[in-house]
Amino acid sequence: MQANRIYNFNPGPAALPLAVLEEIQGSLLDYKGSGMSVMEMSHRSKEFDAILNDAIARTRRLLQLDERFHVIFVQGGASLQFSMIPMNFLADGRSADYVNTGTWATNAIQEARVLNKTVNVVASSEDRQFTYIPRDIVFNPDAVYVHLTSNNTIRGTQWAAFPDTQGVPIVADMSSDIMSRPFDAGRFGLIYAGAQKNIGPAGVCMVIIRDDLLKRVPANLPSMLKYTTYTSKNSLYNTPPSFAIYTVQLVLKWIEETVGGLGRMEALNRKKAEVVYRGIDGSGGFYRGTAEPASRSLMNLTFRLPSEELEQRFLQAALQAGLGGLKGHRSVGGCRASLYNAVPMEGVEALADFMQTFARKNG
Ligand SMILES: *Cc1c(COP(=O)(O)O)cnc(C)c1O
Repeated sequence: MQANRIYNFNPGPAALPLAVLEEIQGSLLDYKGSGMSVMEMSHRSKEFDAILNDAIARTRRLLQLDERFHVIFVQGGASLQFSMIPMNFLADGRSADYVNTGTWATNAIQEARVLNKTVNVVASSEDRQFTYIPRDIVFNPDAVYVHLTSNNTIRGTQWAAFPDTQGVPIVADMSSDIMSRPFDAGRFGLIYAGAQKNIGPAGVCMVIIRDDLLKRVPANLPSMLKYTTYTSKNSLYNTPPSFAIYTVQLVLKWIEETVGGLGRMEALNRKKAEVVYRGIDGSGGFYRGTAEPASRSLMNLTFRLPSEELEQRFLQAALQAGLGGLKGHRSVGGCRASLYNAVPMEGVEALADFMQTFARKNG
């Protein structure tokens, strides 16, 4: 049965690969002859163990993680990581550097400060409404880590390359671009990503931690807030969000086996973003990209129309044309096309065509 699906440009929760949804549908009542759904089975069953370990193994292969790295699954979203990171790594007298590139980075800084941790904001793009990624940053050599947001979901900016932190481990919020491109994980101490943007449904956050940072975890933290609880129990200290992890596993399998890895994923994502940015830049000023060109995101493409009234009409007409989720974040307004991994090229082409027609009629 063919469902009536639209092209989904939602920022998160967001589009999932159709093949993944179909696989879930096919095994919903009876997962691999177990006679039950993954939702209904023990998180300590051999079936779930295989799912969890496969998700971890695929993450390791896709990101080329060496044996120093642990892959764990935590609840509480990326937002809980804003607190867990400073709680686990910043002992009294130690500090961390933060780069403020938007709402999520601002929240990460705030959550560390709530805990009375010492945070140095070494660079910020707030002076120009977070429309760019700062350059030539001077980092503190004695910082425990440098925190940055690899892709700024709301403002539509992304680090094209990661800064040289002179050996200080990078801690990165990759919620909205993890698995969208290859990168050298070796310089990272911790990577985290709420699954609901690029690798799965809401309810689980992937966290990748390097061994040397684990040594900093203090004993006097609640078990659920301690990274070592997750690494020592393979994320099975308590009941994990098993169905969400299962979906992540299928998405990673899709990236690895159907797309063909992160190099291929990036090439596709570049092509998709190019089609839409070309449409924006070629519209004679009807559409105006809000991010500085050198800092533009390949994942979240933010743009304005000549008036808010036209933006409203644009969003309505787009939805009628089967293109959903294009409204900008409520804090900034405007429009945003989120072109995550699962958004197919046909959808992107349909969007570019629609944008061109709309500009011609209303420009
Ligand atoms: C969505 C998002 C968050 C918040 O994620 P939650 O899982 O809702 O806590 C944090 N950082 C970035 C970059 C995001 O895109």
